[in-house]
Amino acid sequence: GMNIKGFMKKNWLLIATVIAVVLGIGLGLLVREYTSLSHLERQYFGFPGEILMRMLKMIILPLIMSSMITGIAALDSEVSGKIGLRAVVYYFTTTIFAVILGIILVVSIKPGVSHKHFGSTGTTPNVTTVDTILDLVRNMFPENLVQACFAQYKTKRVELPPPARFQPENTTLTPPLVTTLMAVMENVTKEYKITGSYSEGMNVLGLIVFCAVFGLVIGKMGARGRILLDFFDALNEATMRLVQIMMCYMPVGILFLIAAKIIEVEDWAIFGKMGLYMATVLTGLAIHGLLILPLIYFIFVRKNPFTVMLQMAQALVTALMISSSSATLPVTFRCAEENVGIDKRITRFVLPVGATINMDGTALYEAVATIFIAQLNDYNLDVGHILTISITATLASIGAAGIPNAGLVTMVMVLTAVGLPANDVTLIVAVDWLLDRCRTMINVLGDAYGAAVVEKLSKRELERMDVASDVDMANP
Ligand code: ASP
Repeated sequence: GMNIKGFMKKNWLLIATVIAVVLGIGLGLLVREYTSLSHLERQYFGFPGEILMRMLKMIILPLIMSSMITGIAALDSEVSGKIGLRAVVYYFTTTIFAVILGIILVVSIKPGVSHKHFGSTGTTPNVTTVDTILDLVRNMFPENLVQACFAQYKTKRVELPPPARFQPENTTLTPPLVTTLMAVMENVTKEYKITGSYSEGMNVLGLIVFCAVFGLVIGKMGARGRILLDFFDALNEATMRLVQIMMCYMPVGILFLIAAKIIEVEDWAIFGKMGLYMATVLTGLAIHGLLILPLIYFIFVRKNPFTVMLQMAQALVTALMISSSSATLPVTFRCAEENVGIDKRITRFVLPVGATINMDGTALYEAVATIFIAQLNDYNLDVGHILTISITATLASIGAAGIPNAGLVTMVMVLTAVGLPANDVTLIVAVDWLLDRCRTMINVLGDAYGAAVVEKLSKRELERMDVASDVDMANP
């Protein structure tokens, strides 16, 4: 009746996107079954999807800049400080909850214990926790703003050659004790140097930090700052209109994106072998997304959390399809502002930060995967290890960029922190494309609930500002 028609009209894009997902999976399975495309042909097949990704990524820069600057400049510094603090407390708490949930599940399900046929591929660590934390801070202070638009700093460890020392002339005559001593010495004196280089990927964190401070400065400049604020405000509006136009292409792009993925996957049998591990991660993500986050939202906002989930559906499906919180950000913005109706002063400032540092799904995944690898290695974890994993998994999720498979890269830090071979991430790479998209969806959901909770907690400040600006308008 009228209701269905109204619903269709309001949600045509969402409906088209969901249909595109279903069609894309069907198309992928058909092409897989009845043709055998060469590598090149597969790449051509994925072309429409590639264009969608390019469009979404293109819009991130003007979106982040204009939203962060206007978001911060619109609030006075005391209020933005309070809101920022609330957001960070929410991010941190929910991430820790996700990690704890992951640990409880993986320790009780024990997916790695029954899977002894996976061999370890042990090797020496390359980067440590300290290196990773330093990189996080380094990236907050980009040395070049233009470079920050396409590159991130990454530390590498290089082993220095052992210092020159006395070599016995005739090595065959070297007594065993000397050889042993030399081997020990070599290990003791093994030295590393850290060097860094810029690797591909936008330094979103650096841009956010810059724009936040820039926005703060503009906000304090008074009348002169007004020009800049108006400029970025208009830029933000124009950008959001662009997003709206781009989203019309989304169903087409998504159809080919998922179809190409299904054609590309080579090893389906791995899903059987890794089934219990995947089930553990997916169960954790489901409990976090369907129970814990909604409960937190309900406690603070006192509204139906599942309404928000429906209102965010377009962003959630997008995240599930493209495995990137950053590239989903334009859609997250639209859903949060237009559908959920969260105050723009909150979303503009809180959503970009959330997409970059708030990754509940990734944190849960890192904890589960690390303990899974420990179980495969028959490695006994004590309380200290578990605590280390909780902390480093949280840090690793903060450090992970909002791009596909980023969680897998930062997991090296969690593994080395408890002495597990870093190379063992290769054991779980084959199934990461599927887990990645699921955890990204939870990451985005966490950002949306976060913005809503922060808005609710900041109602009073926002209202007071509304009153103040009304008075301003009355007596200019
Ligand atoms: N792909 C995830 C995201 O963009 C990060 C990850 O690999 O866990 O949120």
